[in-house]
Amino acid sequence: MSAVLVVGGAGYIGSHAAKALRRAGYDVVVYDDLSAGHREATLGAPLVEGDIHDVPRLRETLRARGVTAVMHFAAWARVGESVRDPRGYYWTNVTGTLAVLEAMAAESVACFVFSSSAAVFGEPEETPITEAHPTRPINPYGETKLAVERALPHYARAYGIRSISLRYFNAAGADPEGELGESHDPETHLIPLAIGAALGRGALAIYGDDYPTPDGTCLRDYVHVTDLSDAHLLALQALERGAATTAYNLGCGRPASVREVVAAVSRVSGRPVPAAVAPRRPGDPAVLYASSEAIERDLGWCPRYADLDTIVETAWRWHQRRGTH
Ligand code: UDP
Repeated sequence: MSAVLVVGGAGYIGSHAAKALRRAGYDVVVYDDLSAGHREATLGAPLVEGDIHDVPRLRETLRARGVTAVMHFAAWARVGESVRDPRGYYWTNVTGTLAVLEAMAAESVACFVFSSSAAVFGEPEETPITEAHPTRPINPYGETKLAVERALPHYARAYGIRSISLRYFNAAGADPEGELGESHDPETHLIPLAIGAALGRGALAIYGDDYPTPDGTCLRDYVHVTDLSDAHLLALQALERGAATTAYNLGCGRPASVREVVAAVSRVSGRPVPAAVAPRRPGDPAVLYASSEAIERDLGWCPRYADLDTIVETAWRWHQRRGTH
């Protein structure tokens, strides 16, 4: 018996990855405290409700379920909140992750796929951002992700836990089969908020239109959550073949502006998206997009849902469907 433990597997990206793992033939066990995740997002996979700081519980789960690899998604991920509550972010994202690693070391589980973030880079010096770009986070959230990334090579040398960190740019979209989607409370992300505006839930605030970009709004690299799931699977398989600890950037490499996203939501939904320009959001760089050449070259990753309208369409279908419940 061998299984993959998906920590945070009831959340947005974790639930999509768990579905991809099961489809690829892996046994999956979800470990989640359901503080932000949703029980129904496990799609019937075994769920252990537990805290990531609970090392005995984690150890027991790894042992009892015959776990051979861990994917770790459980984290807090709101930049502004991290500035107001760094303690909560260090506790969850750093101490919590080290607890997962401690349980793995104690149970001799050697493969770890880690959810990292473009936030490790801070203000970009040049774009597209490659893995060689300096890592200088500008907020506690990015610091916590980088702290774990920096610990991982030491954990590989000392405890034999090999890992691949995946630095997501803007995770977006929903399961093309309509079973899973993005459901945060409160929601802070652009695409679900723009969809909410199209559905009559209040105007979207466009955070700044005076950036040095073609239409004055920020450029971001939206990458489909199913493409992220594919990358996790490829990373796991590489680790199973003996790959060494490393980190990859994950984006489509084609930036879209806030106004382009608004236009896409309007096109896809066939509805107007009420929007008003608001002041810049502190800490938002003008332009952020990835070079994913390294993961394409090393692991053969190739995004299948790179088109912005396709990304928006999967999200739109999910939100419409949820609205009917
Ligand atoms: N954004 C916006 N209005 C919103 C939410 C986001 O204009 O209500 C902008 C934000 O300034 C950024 C982009 O949309 O340029 C993506 O933001 P999001 O919060 O979705 O992701 P982030 O880039 O912060 O990870």
